[in-house]
Amino acid sequence: MARPQLSDYRIATLGSHSALQILKGAKDEGFSTIVICKKGQEKPYRMFNVADEIISIGSFKDFPRIEQALIKKNAIIVPHASFVTYMGFQEVEKFKVNYYGNKRILRWESDRNAERNWLKAAGLSLPRIYRKPSEIDRPVIVKFHGAGGGKGYFLARDEEDFKKKIKPYNLRNYVIQEYIIGVPLYVHYFHSSLTGELEIMGFDKRYESNVDGIGRISARDQMVLNNVDPSYVIVGNTPIVIRESFLPRLIEMGENIVKRSKKIAPPGLFGPFCLETVLTPDEDIKVFEISARIVAGTNPYTHGSPYTWLRYNEPMSTGRRIAREIRTAIEQDRLKEVLA
Ligand code: ATP
Repeated sequence: MARPQLSDYRIATLGSHSALQILKGAKDEGFSTIVICKKGQEKPYRMFNVADEIISIGSFKDFPRIEQALIKKNAIIVPHASFVTYMGFQEVEKFKVNYYGNKRILRWESDRNAERNWLKAAGLSLPRIYRKPSEIDRPVIVKFHGAGGGKGYFLARDEEDFKKKIKPYNLRNYVIQEYIIGVPLYVHYFHSSLTGELEIMGFDKRYESNVDGIGRISARDQMVLNNVDPSYVIVGNTPIVIRESFLPRLIEMGENIVKRSKKIAPPGLFGPFCLETVLTPDEDIKVFEISARIVAGTNPYTHGSPYTWLRYNEPMSTGRRIAREIRTAIEQDRLKEVLA
């Protein structure tokens, strides 16, 4: 049988989240690309000329209806958060179309308890979880399951404050987590299943409404407006370069996550992933979440980050890094090792 060629495959993704970066990266590596858009949302993919083909569907939930067509085109899906958000991990697990990454990891990041066990077993430091409101002994953040991007999350200082603020949310499922005072830092990693190496791709912090606007209102005016509760609705991402002496610990944390993932979901986590952290004034690094795939915080680095520049000496976004991995796998006839 003839060896597979790059031109036999096409890179496809859903039109949202980090699709521009993924598709541009795929084209830079020589792939032909497909974007699947919700009807009416095609314009950015035309404007930035990153998609060789645009397939429009009524809703992302209709994705299974076009799956056969994608299989015929020999498409390789590069997943991002929108796949799981719109379809749920059980649906994604059933995909027959080629899929970059390890699907078995999805259930570990979709269930807060399972995710926590994984992070803990990897030796990471996590914010404390309070089982009962009566246990609250310091500021906490209350998060709802399935909350769309931090909407409705609230802070509480003690049991009484919690009980007052939880009232409107009566029946919803929530978690009470220690609120870490420090600065948020999102760490972008890439683990190659072909070479076994871990790479730091970059860092970002999020720009969230309204919490990033509250600082523009003086404490006096916040009191007068008395209804300004913080929310964490993501609007965009800002690049960060980290103090260099933090790098050894951050690299080790990524390595430990990968090592542990091999035990819980063989062959383990590979491709891009992100640790969502808060760094405290005591230089403690608390991890409150993991994303086991590309995060939108890599989007400022379409042309590469300071870190990928150090390693590659050419523009290398996370999207392009994924395409490079798939291309290498095709060239070495090892595609099975990068597809779930
Ligand atoms: P996503 O799933 O897209 O990452 P989300 O809706 O689950 O988002 P989180 O990322 O958990 O929301 O949190 C939203 C915001 O709250 C972020 O700005 C984060 O920095 C902040 N945050 C979350 N947990 C904590 C914590 N324990 N201490 C301090 N800040 C926190």
